[in-house]
Amino acid sequence: MLSTNWKAMSWAPIPKSQREWRVLPNLQDYGRCRNEFSWEAARRTLEGLPGGGLNIAHEAVDRHAAGARREHLALRFISKRGEIRDFTYAQLSAETNRFANVLRRLGIGKGERVFVLAGRIPELYVTAIGTLKNTSVFCPLFSAFGPEPIRQRMSIGDGRVLVTTASLYKRKVAELRSALPGLRHVLLIGTPEEIDKLPGTLDFNQLMASADDRFVILPTDPQDLALLHFTSGTTGTPKGAMHVHEAVVAHHMTGYYALDFHPGDIFWCTADPGWVTGTSYGIIAPLTHGITSLVDEADFDAERWYSLLQNQAVTVWYTAPTAVRMMMRVGTDVIRNYDLQRLRFIASVGEPLNPEAVVWGQKAFGLPIHDNWWQTETGGIMIANYLSMEIRPGSMGRPLPGIEAAIVQHRPDKTVEVVSAPDVQGELALRPGWPSMFRGYLNEEQRYRKCFNGGWYLTGDLATRDSDGYFWFVGRADDVIKSSGHLIGPFEVESALLEHRAVSEAGVIGKPDPVAGEVVKAFVSLKSGYSPSDELRLDLLGFARKRLGAVVAPKEIDFVSSVPKTRSGKIMRRLLKARELGLPEGDLSTLESDTEAK
Ligand code: AMP
Repeated sequence: MLSTNWKAMSWAPIPKSQREWRVLPNLQDYGRCRNEFSWEAARRTLEGLPGGGLNIAHEAVDRHAAGARREHLALRFISKRGEIRDFTYAQLSAETNRFANVLRRLGIGKGERVFVLAGRIPELYVTAIGTLKNTSVFCPLFSAFGPEPIRQRMSIGDGRVLVTTASLYKRKVAELRSALPGLRHVLLIGTPEEIDKLPGTLDFNQLMASADDRFVILPTDPQDLALLHFTSGTTGTPKGAMHVHEAVVAHHMTGYYALDFHPGDIFWCTADPGWVTGTSYGIIAPLTHGITSLVDEADFDAERWYSLLQNQAVTVWYTAPTAVRMMMRVGTDVIRNYDLQRLRFIASVGEPLNPEAVVWGQKAFGLPIHDNWWQTETGGIMIANYLSMEIRPGSMGRPLPGIEAAIVQHRPDKTVEVVSAPDVQGELALRPGWPSMFRGYLNEEQRYRKCFNGGWYLTGDLATRDSDGYFWFVGRADDVIKSSGHLIGPFEVESALLEHRAVSEAGVIGKPDPVAGEVVKAFVSLKSGYSPSDELRLDLLGFARKRLGAVVAPKEIDFVSSVPKTRSGKIMRRLLKARELGLPEGDLSTLESDTEAK
């Protein structure tokens, strides 16, 4: 693929510092831990519901609220303006009980979908856990989405309830109501005056205030649907990856081994719950360990982040390569103004973490950054650099205990073959069977089945494995775009552009970017009667931004006379990308003839 082979660049492994060893790592002997590990034993480290069964909310909140960690701080929210709101485990249990009662009173039952469109505010977290208590399904939506991604996801997920703020509702959802017939209740966070003016909505705070703060979690089978996370493919609509309550076993176990949670830790996951990391590790995993999680409502700001790390005495920090690259731009001098001695472990996920960034972490914080790998479908971390192991900068690490990973290649007869030789590129594959494995794409059995071959789950990522079992990311096997850690389906962007009156065809690619990893770039051809101009380009950029939201919309648009397609009509995004980057165009035998000329 079009990405760097970092392994070939031979970065020296990073020795472990004294500071990291302040606690004994949970994973000390990798080989032994893998040999002795079983998912049954991991399941036994959790409590289970009093009457049998397994519910994420019980493991994350109620069992601590009923025990010694009752008064321990569970969640600390820092608002954009710096105000703090704290929830102990007891308070979080009571608040989430209230929300579960609200759902019950609204007649929302098991399996029904509760969507949340909000920034990182307490109500989102209360809704998530309360929904799980009621055995309804929690579906987060990224608050920067525009109306179109919201409509699509809520239609596919058949949302019954939406919790959002009055301001987001006004700007993004009100216009969609008629397109969402299954949506029964909209609960708004805002002032009563604001909410009064918005017909067809309910006041979240009012409902909560009148709800009982006692609730007995409903009987839950480990296989009951708990979470629906949307992810994007190369083609078609977004896919709703379904996760069940049993996933909590993997959230808990990976928090223990990959993020090295210890009692008393103060953990900060910078990911937004609109994406899977922000739910699995921004909400669930730390709570299952009874530790304190910090939630910052504001977006990235280097100085703010360093002062949070210092003032909140963060010990374990889980962030993303884009953020690390932004910090690198600011430089290391500024860090010297802060006392970050409490910090003992830094991890990163979501995109390739350049070796420079790992080494920079060492220079800036005295700690390397531990890359790990997973995806929406896997529900939890699958491959990681562990505290006790030497880091090979640029490598994603080694598979978690209980996870079998391999490099496979596709044979001409459409079967797959495991590559046993080291350093050979192929598709990263995982042996299904871990608890947080997705159970399907909602209503898309075909697309789900396509992910499996020969007893392997195929991840869609290209990678290599070295002779010591470290995995190295090479690139995506498909055209999906990763921008600032967010997965974006080119088809979704192309479809929105095609709705513009002037656009005849659109092809969308990820263009490499030093900070965001990739930015969305579109190539459009125009209908007759329209001609390229800066004005039209601006109009198209604005149009896409309004429909899709800032994260998904293209940042750049080029006009082309025609978009290259295969003879069967598929957009050749690979060719658009090769041309954009000045790389060889490769095999053009399937190119449709009228698009051959550039
Ligand atoms: P998502 O489902 O949105 O979490 O995106 C998952 C995809 O992000 C993976 O399939 C990879 O393409 C990419 N990704 C996640 N973690 C890493 C990593 N550590 N290194 C490289 N790519 C990653």
